Amino acid sequence: MAALVMLVVLCGMVMPQHAARAAPSPVAHSPFNSPPEPGAIRLHACVAPVRHGDTAAKLFASPDRFDCRRAEAAWGAGSYWVRLDLPPGSRLSEDPEDMPNRYLRFAPQWQRMITVHTRLADGRIVSRSYDNQDLSPLMGIGAAVGIPLEKRVRLGTQIMVRLDGALNAAGLVVEPQLMRGTALRGAELAAAAIFSAFAGLGIGLFCYNMVLWLTIRERFQLTYCLSLLAMLAYVWASSGAMSLQAPSTSQVLRIETSYLMLAFVGALALQFITDFIEPHCLPARLRRFARNVGLASIAAAVAVILVPEAWRPLADRAYVLTFIPLPPLVAAIGMIAWRRGSGSVRVLAIAWAMPLVMAVLRIAHALHLVELSSVVEYSLVIGMSIEALLSSLAMSYRIKLVTEERDQALADERAARHLANVDGLTGLLNRRALLEQVIAWSSPEPLRLLLVDIDHFKQINDRHGHLVGDEVLRDVAEVMAMRAELRGSVARLGGEEFALIGTSDELSEGLALAILADMRAKAMGGHVRLTVSIGMAEGMVRCEDEWRDLYRRGDIALYRAKSEGRNRAVHAGPGCAVSVPIGPFVSAAAVA
Ligand code: GH3
Ligand code: MG
Ligand code: MG
Repeated sequence: MAALVMLVVLCGMVMPQHAARAAPSPVAHSPFNSPPEPGAIRLHACVAPVRHGDTAAKLFASPDRFDCRRAEAAWGAGSYWVRLDLPPGSRLSEDPEDMPNRYLRFAPQWQRMITVHTRLADGRIVSRSYDNQDLSPLMGIGAAVGIPLEKRVRLGTQIMVRLDGALNAAGLVVEPQLMRGTALRGAELAAAAIFSAFAGLGIGLFCYNMVLWLTIRERFQLTYCLSLLAMLAYVWASSGAMSLQAPSTSQVLRIETSYLMLAFVGALALQFITDFIEPHCLPARLRRFARNVGLASIAAAVAVILVPEAWRPLADRAYVLTFIPLPPLVAAIGMIAWRRGSGSVRVLAIAWAMPLVMAVLRIAHALHLVELSSVVEYSLVIGMSIEALLSSLAMSYRIKLVTEERDQALADERAARHLANVDGLTGLLNRRALLEQVIAWSSPEPLRLLLVDIDHFKQINDRHGHLVGDEVLRDVAEVMAMRAELRGSVARLGGEEFALIGTSDELSEGLALAILADMRAKAMGGHVRLTVSIGMAEGMVRCEDEWRDLYRRGDIALYRAKSEGRNRAVHAGPGCAVSVPIGPFVSAAAVA
């Protein structure tokens, strides 16, 4: 599907007005197209190659030198006479008021020099030569020049154009028409409206997507913006706006810009497709190949511009050839991505559906199958507008997918971090997370550590089984958490050993005794009665070493509580290893 789209769009892009008979060329995409404007007469071109010693008078007098059937582009590069005949039976108004002025309008191509010869009804021949510089001020929007004729054309007037050094890639005098000044201005106004609309849309989409890129930072947004710039530059040059804004620039420069920018449009369209499709849906080798094909187009365009004149027709052929691998390549990309389950390639196909229709219309029109003049006339620019707009919408969809993926990844990461920090059985912090948290506090005052260890837990396991043992651990954790609420942090350090850490105010000796009492009071795991022993110690905790020291002293106090009979709390004493019993206070018998 995508291949077909690309094929037809590219055909539409490179298809000149005389698609059926002429070679593709970037300068032939003038919207100044087949249907003549009101007040315009379409002229018919007959061609004769220039011979040594030819003069305009001689050619006007030798109608048999001209070939009126052979396609212009089929003559190849060189210098030619082109006689522009009025269609048989054309009626020219003889009213001078009706035709205050007459213009010969056509889309100029790549040549060194153009000379317009007019043989008036009285036999006089008026000639005027234009080099590429001279043509620029005559260029209007629509990529056509309006050359003012010496006098209004009457029956019997003949017009002939001599072209020297024509590249003739897409014709010699493309779409020649005889026009009134009003019709000329009307045609240019219509073209200006269409091109301005495209420019407005293009600039709007560019700004919107650039701003979006600043936040989302997806590569395909950037290639899309670059392809928009290339399209805008291409339309700016090929529409004639460039000559209008800078009348002193040569037509050759305008045409060269069109060549180069069309190559960039093709290369960036390919790059956009490969960037837009999800990375895992396209082999890296295919991506690289696509990039090289695009670069080949650009290189060929540069070659057309830089090679000597004699080599230019060959370079032009090579340039056209570089567009040929695009459709099968896009077909391969589309098929592979489709098979690998790419959602993007489907959205892209929808985005390109309308340009496809426009390109089909353009080709059908070029083959004289349809006569939808106004649509076909601007099909390229309309197609590019719709493609740009829908691609932008397709990107919104892709960005939605990307953000969903990112949100999911963030949630997964959060969950993984949570799992890494939390003890799976009790839901309390684990040893590592507790340490990280305490060091992160960087408390300016000493902290107090309570190490709480269940007494004879092994026996509980032995008597009631490990499952009940787990229940008991969970209930003990719950009691700890309730006591610790808003009073420092609680963690399961491992096995049946828990820790509470906070300031001395938060973890008072009274709190230690309350924990001892809570543990005794509650039936853990539904029916198990137990006691705990507590070791207490204080110290600064700004690094792991300080933590280790605090833990060591807490552990000594805990050991002392165990060895003194369990079910009690022992305070390590400030700054020294001497343990001071502070409990049980409730069970005097246990102390004794
Ligand atoms: P003391 O009063 O000296 O602390 O004796 P104790 O039996 O509580 O201590 P000991 O270190 O001898 O035994 C601890 C037991 O805790 C041994 C181990 O099987 C058990 N245990 C450790 N982790 C878990 C656990 O996650 N679930 C269960 N059910 N038991 C555990
Ligand atoms: Mg124990
Ligand atoms: Mg233990």
